[in-house]
Amino acid sequence: MGMRVLFASAEVAPYSKAGGLGDVAGSLPRALVDLGHELLVVTPWYARLGAAARPLWIGDVDVPFAGDGVRVGVGTLEEGGVRFAFVGHPSLSRDRLYGYADDAWRFALFARAVPEVARRVGFRPDVVHANDWHTGHLPVVLARGWHLPEGFWHLPSVFTIHNAQHQGVSDLAETLYWLRLPAELAGSFANHYGRYNALKAGAGFASRVTTVSPTYAQELTRPEYGYGLDGAFRSLEGRLVGILNGLDVEYWNPATDPYLPAPYDARRPNDKAASQVALRERFGLETGLPVLASVSRLVEQKGIDLLVAAGPRLVNAGWGIVILGTGEPAVEAAALSLAADNPGRVGVHIGYDEDLAHLVYAGADAFAMPSRFEPCGLSQMIAMRYGTIPIVRATGGLLDTVEHGRTGFLFEHATADGIVWAAARALDVGPGTDRWRALQLDAMRQDNSWRRSARRYEALYRAARSAP
Ligand code: ADP
Repeated sequence: MGMRVLFASAEVAPYSKAGGLGDVAGSLPRALVDLGHELLVVTPWYARLGAAARPLWIGDVDVPFAGDGVRVGVGTLEEGGVRFAFVGHPSLSRDRLYGYADDAWRFALFARAVPEVARRVGFRPDVVHANDWHTGHLPVVLARGWHLPEGFWHLPSVFTIHNAQHQGVSDLAETLYWLRLPAELAGSFANHYGRYNALKAGAGFASRVTTVSPTYAQELTRPEYGYGLDGAFRSLEGRLVGILNGLDVEYWNPATDPYLPAPYDARRPNDKAASQVALRERFGLETGLPVLASVSRLVEQKGIDLLVAAGPRLVNAGWGIVILGTGEPAVEAAALSLAADNPGRVGVHIGYDEDLAHLVYAGADAFAMPSRFEPCGLSQMIAMRYGTIPIVRATGGLLDTVEHGRTGFLFEHATADGIVWAAARALDVGPGTDRWRALQLDAMRQDNSWRRSARRYEALYRAARSAP
């Protein structure tokens, strides 16, 4: 029988997105609807919503918050069988999603508003799914909060960690006061070295805790990856499970992709050549070079600095390199100077460019992800679907989705040497050879669709309901 699932997220593509969380919140609810469930997605009403979305304002609700409570607006729309409720408040209606001094307050208010908003739209959930620190308060409020609408007290909850680096740390007493939680929770799992930690709180109070790949679930329990919460994650023992994210295989489909000069897929892989020509022309690369590409945020996590450091050796080995990305100024500058030193061999475009990203995925031979950590990663799945062989660090979701020597190449160490080593293994096989084509076909045929993952969330919701 279908369940009613309340899904709360600070990002939902295509309305708002800063990273993988937005993609998941955009895709998983739809996949669950396809399995016969009823979904309400509650998300902030930012000043500028993507896809020119215009929620219908249906009224205000009073949220029990801090001293006097706070009034928020509610907007709704429906898309692809999923109902969306947007929470409106001046503190949320800003240009950027995050990065403000009052983020802790903003998202405490958002999370605390979720039950009231659900009641306002007449949605009585069977289970609540919260995501990342912004909604980590929700499992606590459901388990221990006061002033909840009827039917919400002790609702089973699932909490998903998309990235443990961001934890939502704030003053302990103040945050409990905002959320109107009992003061004795100062001694609970929400406390991390004397401060309120929203990510830890969500993990501690939820009925079930997940993260976005089986390997990241294990890594989180180690000091190198836990960002100070490894002990907390260890104490969850069997309660923390990894479920891989899926890929939107309709949007990312080389057979129908409007940004490519010619469609192709595993049945007619040779037409990828047109995209390869177009990519080389776009970046002024010499013909005949195998191209190793990256489409990425240029931040420490992604290790693009390592790719740039390896650049001269990769060029010597015979690679052409393409980098599309934006982020930390130092990494941007280093990438640009690598391109300036290697005209015809290295092309760099600084910026966020969705159209160009499609051409890079299609037109490259190999795709580099030297991530220092990678909870799941979508880019490697996109690359594989486009017959572009991933060369990735053996961490998190990269280890769970790429098989060394069959669908890609893995390296152990987050160093320039690591990339150079794995790229040499790729050249041993050699783009254009029969063995390379076998890799491409295996990569293109891998099933990374959401359907499989949605089934696993479904099973988890059922488990949470029968034993919260
Ligand atoms: P993360 O969510 O950590 O950034 P993922 O691999 O899960 O990493 O997803 C990244 C997504 O963002 C991919 O769809 C990738 O193509 C896209 N992306 C990243 N940087 C850019 C860019 N500069 N231009 C276009 N798309 C980008």
